[in-house]
Amino acid sequence: MANVLIVGAGGVGQVVAHKCAQVEEVFENITLASRTKSKCDKIADMLPRKINTAEVDADNVSEMVALIEKAKPDMVINVALPYQDLHIMDACLETGVHYLDTANYEPPEEAKFEYKWQWAYQEKFEKAGLMALLGSGFDPGVTSVYTAYAKKHHFDTIKTLDILDCNAGDHGLPFATNFNPEINIREITANGRYWENGQWVTTKPMEEKRVFEFPEGIGEKDLYLLYHEELESLSKHYPEIERARFWMTFGASYLKHLEVLQNVGLTSIEPIEFQGQQIVPIQFLKALLPDPASLGPLTKGKTCIGNIIKGVKDGVEKIYYVYNICDHQECYKEVQSQAISYTTGVPAMIGAKMMMEGKWMKPGVWNMEQLDPDPFMDDLNKYGLPWQETWLDKPFV
Ligand code: NDP
Repeated sequence: MANVLIVGAGGVGQVVAHKCAQVEEVFENITLASRTKSKCDKIADMLPRKINTAEVDADNVSEMVALIEKAKPDMVINVALPYQDLHIMDACLETGVHYLDTANYEPPEEAKFEYKWQWAYQEKFEKAGLMALLGSGFDPGVTSVYTAYAKKHHFDTIKTLDILDCNAGDHGLPFATNFNPEINIREITANGRYWENGQWVTTKPMEEKRVFEFPEGIGEKDLYLLYHEELESLSKHYPEIERARFWMTFGASYLKHLEVLQNVGLTSIEPIEFQGQQIVPIQFLKALLPDPASLGPLTKGKTCIGNIIKGVKDGVEKIYYVYNICDHQECYKEVQSQAISYTTGVPAMIGAKMMMEGKWMKPGVWNMEQLDPDPFMDDLNKYGLPWQETWLDKPFV
């Protein structure tokens, strides 16, 4: 029976709180803390059992340490923003508790995410006998476990990996992002990048486009190549992979709005002087855009996220497709959130459950694909993200 501290009461935090509360046999005590306590209280009021709430600025390590000493958790589930990762890891080391997150560290002043900062904690966590599980969301997270599962059960060698992230949901608003707008826009407006023959190939934002017919009635969608953090860890942990790419669907209207916002400078992270005050344009834009958590009741349709893997088994080349379909309205019925928050929050709960049950517990800093995929894949089916697998006739080119 575990005592868990969830940090961050946004769209994802709400789902993690719901899902941990549902699994009382593992998560006996839950504390939800965030910068704004009223958001934690609002979530706590939705839940079927009592949880504790607290206010914390997770960038302030001594505040985090004081909270951990008071709440006495066995682990922290960090679903605040990537900027907080290192501060929360420091607080975990100081207090001797395990750590999990869903997105890798990103310095606030530079739109750049990389694992190097968190991988540098490997020795510290190992020496302290503590575990840090990185990227336990959907992508990264489930997509990393899908890769490990494919390798364990279906392939001797993986040759190519394409991760396809499709959100076919519609919220009816002209422009909104499905998770934190600042993080989302920083990711999408950056250069694309993929791994090929042992090196990174850089593309301009939205330069590479493909069309794919998604299953279960979703149909044909346009996909664009983006850089995504699991490509870094997967290409390191599976050096056999010749090419690894990440693709995301965007509609024409979304891209047009983004282009205009970019052209007028509203997506910039460079501070500007405005009426005697320094403001960061993208932070101002975030204040104007709908809160992702407010999209829950509005969004209809499905998401489909999965991996297409070409590899060789017993000398025969095969193409494997593993994916999950998630329905926005079903998610809302269960946890009052849309599917993007749901598909991130459920794997965060399952990752924490794997650690607390001892199935994945080992000291050090780990990416998801380094651990046994089987118990995690079983729990995806049990806790709301069932997966399908199929073999394709032709590769994703
Ligand atoms: P939101 O912006 O909805 O929520 C973030 C929460 O963190 C807010 O409650 C915010 O507080 C809180 N927060 C921010 N700064 C601090 C701080 N210094 N101290 C304490 N709390 C803080 O984001 P999401 O819920 O959409 O996303 C959460 C995380 O999940 C992000 O890191 C995102 O990158 C990641 N993610 C991962 C995905 C995956 O598949 N791996 C997919 C989608 C998201 P306040 O409300 O006061 O601002």
